[in-house]
Amino acid sequence: MCAETPADMRHPNHVLDELGFRYDPNNLFQQTANALLEAAEILDLPHHLRLILAQPKTEVMMHFPVRLDNGDYRLFKGYRVQHNNILGPYKGGMRFHPSVSLDDIKSLAVLMTLKCSLAQLPLGGAKGGVQVDPRSLSRDELRRLTRRFTAALDGNIGVDHDIPAPDMGTNAQIMAWMADTYMNFNDHMGKHQARAIVTGKPIEFGGSHGREKATGQGLVYTLERCLPDVGIPMDQMTYSLIGFGNVGSWAARLLAERGSKLITVMDHTGAILNTHGIDAADLANYVVKHAGVAGYPKADAIDEKTFYETQVDVFIPAALEQMVHEHNASWLNCKVLAEAANAPCTPAAERILLDRGVLILPAILCNSGGVTVSYFEWKQNRQAETWDLEKVDRQLKKHIYTAADKSLQATRRFNVDLRTGSYIAALENIGKVYDMRGIFP
Ligand code: NAD
Repeated sequence: MCAETPADMRHPNHVLDELGFRYDPNNLFQQTANALLEAAEILDLPHHLRLILAQPKTEVMMHFPVRLDNGDYRLFKGYRVQHNNILGPYKGGMRFHPSVSLDDIKSLAVLMTLKCSLAQLPLGGAKGGVQVDPRSLSRDELRRLTRRFTAALDGNIGVDHDIPAPDMGTNAQIMAWMADTYMNFNDHMGKHQARAIVTGKPIEFGGSHGREKATGQGLVYTLERCLPDVGIPMDQMTYSLIGFGNVGSWAARLLAERGSKLITVMDHTGAILNTHGIDAADLANYVVKHAGVAGYPKADAIDEKTFYETQVDVFIPAALEQMVHEHNASWLNCKVLAEAANAPCTPAAERILLDRGVLILPAILCNSGGVTVSYFEWKQNRQAETWDLEKVDRQLKKHIYTAADKSLQATRRFNVDLRTGSYIAALENIGKVYDMRGIFP
């Protein structure tokens, strides 16, 4: 006989109960799946599709040894989660970070499925990574780790099956090592075809113009499309940033070209403020030399609370997940929160912000520039073409504007917040394709 689950352990969405999840409100995967299921409910998506989409199709976990420079061996844990491929091959970043966990990777894979659908890409959702602090390794150790991880992934990735990309802690160099390793194992395929195994590669090795800045560029196009609705001119906009890595620093440099003013920045080393504006290009040079914003001489050091409380038009988290939570959400003093990072707000924080009338621009829209230009890179590799930057930016803008318009339309049609609207727009597309293809057999 099946024991009944106590009421306080029951999930707000019965689909997750049906799948046997023990309710944990702090679990990132459950938060993400729940948001998807809420949108599915409003859209009246068939029950079997809700079951399918509430779980990834495949979860791979591997342990592999790497020789360190001092001759010792260390065992690392790596993941690849493939959520859904109804729209096309799996696509998603590889993260190297000490806090990488299976549930977080599952959550990010779900977001990739929704993001690819909203951005009108013929790709599915995946995510992966290694539990490691890449800053603690030498260049040689990082190269050996990347090669060994790629070998361990084996047939789980493939040019037409699953195509990784950079994410936190990984970059174009790491993508080049991944591609080279894969090409050595798959020489039956033409070399130019095989390098399409990853995107975000260096330009000289099959990368795309505009890929490095793509996520920041996509964020700028999202703001350009959505801010007029709330009466914030970009050339007068003030903003705060959490994270000054790839996404944050590119967004800041591109926003400087539009005349927006960066007031505060926080990263893993500290927080800084300058009410007259921080020069993004100058700060980017400083961060390359000093590995963080702490000690930047042209701004004042501030504590975390002051960082969150500083009044700005737009608050942009571009670092880890769940950094805006119920304890600091009420400190925020902004009109718009633009999610450059994936899942930077907990559901509790989101409720606080929505109640206060803050417009939240969801991650599946704001940071879809990265995967969109990754798709362009994959397409260029497959067709042996090279697009110039002007073409990349023009196409990217088209995808982002359409994604923003679809999200805004669904938001109005169903009278929901913009996150729910964007999820509905993404799910509607996926639902139609399932309806046409049916469930095998
Ligand atoms: P990155 O590794 O280049 O930079 C990460 C930044 O986060 C760094 O500035 C780091 O100092 C900061 N950070 C780390 N821990 C922090 C902490 N505890 N407090 C404050 N700051 C902290 O990573 P990235 O590629 O810029 O990715 C940032 C976010 O954007 C991630 O959520 C990632 O999933 C998302 N994203 C990235 C891309 C891409 O193309 N790189 C695409 C889509 C989404």
